[in-house]
Amino acid sequence: MRVKAGAATDIGLVREANEDGYLNRPPLYAVADGMGGHRGGEVASALALETLERGFEREGSEKLADTVREANGVIFERGSRDREVAGMGTTLTVAAAQEDSLHLVHVGDSRAYLLRDGELKLLTEDHTMVQEMVNEGTLTAEEAHDHPQRSILTRALGVWGEIEVDDLNVPLLEGDRILLCTDGLTATVPDERAVEILRDTPDPQDAAARLVETANEGGGIDNTTVVVLDVEADPK
Ligand code: MN
Repeated sequence: MRVKAGAATDIGLVREANEDGYLNRPPLYAVADGMGGHRGGEVASALALETLERGFEREGSEKLADTVREANGVIFERGSRDREVAGMGTTLTVAAAQEDSLHLVHVGDSRAYLLRDGELKLLTEDHTMVQEMVNEGTLTAEEAHDHPQRSILTRALGVWGEIEVDDLNVPLLEGDRILLCTDGLTATVPDERAVEILRDTPDPQDAAARLVETANEGGGIDNTTVVVLDVEADPK
């Protein structure tokens, strides 16, 4: 099985910098959404993606969770000694394509979705306060979506010396489409609209670009970053 990828990122219409980043280095794909004053957000997401790429080259998919923990340490250490970027952090959602599955490692409120047979399924769980409230039953998913504190993260890379990471393996089928995205997409584009675009846009690069455009049409209140992965049969 092989993967055909597309990716797009945009600053949006409101923010002064693009603190998001992505990685499109087959078989490794990721999105990161940095946060922090001055240039902190940009530094955090870039450090996460660089450390991820190098660690993956060295250790492969098997040690992916360790590599993400290493990235946490690198960002935390830099934030501790450089006052300009103190307190910076980043989300990181990583997908490594394997023979017939996807290895996902995830921290924060960026997301991975699976589009299969026209249905979009969320694969990751947001590490946010509102998601915890949804899990406890004190908030509905609809209330969480528009909650003023929906961006408060319970986990992010680089903020604490130790980090818990979600580590999952998703079996893939030919024809599956994977979407990795930062919260700039999910905050502005309803799931139903995202599904329409993903269903109606065969080329993954076109689909990624259309999703980011649609986020800007929806107000562009945040940076938006999207990676689309199509699972195809190996060439005969
Ligand atoms: Mn964001």
